[in-house]
Amino acid sequence: MAGISWFQECATVKPFSLSLCIALCGIPGSFAIAQAGAPKPPMIPSGETRKLTTHTYAIEDKDTTPGVPNIGFVVGSRAVLVIDTGMGPRNGKTVAAEAQKLAPGHQIYLVTTHVHPEHDLGAEAFPPQTKMIRSVDQEKDIAQYGLSMANTFIARSTTNAELLTGANFRTADIHFDKSYDLDLGGVAVRILAMGPNHTRGDTAIWVPAERVLFSGDVAMKGLPSFASPDSSVKQWLASLQTFASLKPSIVVPSHGPIGDMSYITGYQSLLTTVRDRTTALKRQGKSLEEVTSTLTAELKPKYVDSNRLAGAIRTAYAEAS
Ligand SMILES: [Zn+2]
Repeated sequence: MAGISWFQECATVKPFSLSLCIALCGIPGSFAIAQAGAPKPPMIPSGETRKLTTHTYAIEDKDTTPGVPNIGFVVGSRAVLVIDTGMGPRNGKTVAAEAQKLAPGHQIYLVTTHVHPEHDLGAEAFPPQTKMIRSVDQEKDIAQYGLSMANTFIARSTTNAELLTGANFRTADIHFDKSYDLDLGGVAVRILAMGPNHTRGDTAIWVPAERVLFSGDVAMKGLPSFASPDSSVKQWLASLQTFASLKPSIVVPSHGPIGDMSYITGYQSLLTTVRDRTTALKRQGKSLEEVTSTLTAELKPKYVDSNRLAGAIRTAYAEAS
């Protein structure tokens, strides 16, 4: 039942709860502000796919537009893997068309970095022969939370409502537990289930020959968003350790500019500090509210997006003993 109240809390947009909602849902503050004016519609652009390495491509959203993920493609000689769909079928159709332009006649495989609406709910618009790959943890997220996050998004704007009304999760053709290896023809990829970080069903996609990591929300330029009751600092640090051991040259996060190892080391440094300071302050008998205000004040000069710090501290506080 905890999951239901979590999303109800997120759906209540009022001044007091707004920063909490932003922290939980992973929606940057500019989204809430944009609601008062004309929000930029969360559309994936056509014709802006960029080559990264021999076999990898991305549609990059450098500006971190609310509701717009980065889209990834890995193109082999017989098949193409698409990473994330955009919000709703209209965006999904754009992304599928980009995949078909990159790899005409190839088998399409589709994986999503997690099941939030702008990453996953365009999947139904992909051609029927597309093979959808899902981790067991993603299927658990879908079974437990269903379309509650989509309904929260729909309530926020008429554009979201137009994009998401009637959208549903695409059923998986391929299921995996911890990892799944896929040969696309001349290029191999490994899809990893990362455990409960941003969501329980976070995945990452690793292209070893070209050292490209599609990291989802697990390593980005913006601060980490602890968006699920299952989120864990301990697990997030373990996931970052896994990423670091891969030594990627290029890190394609699911939002914001494409980067490198510094996204991983940056999150390691932040989450280690949050864990250690929260534990120390809790042992001194400080309440969650006291720890949040102390630690936010300490970290604010370095990390502007302090809404998300509160979520990290709350999660670390629950884990500290
Ligand atoms: Zn998300």
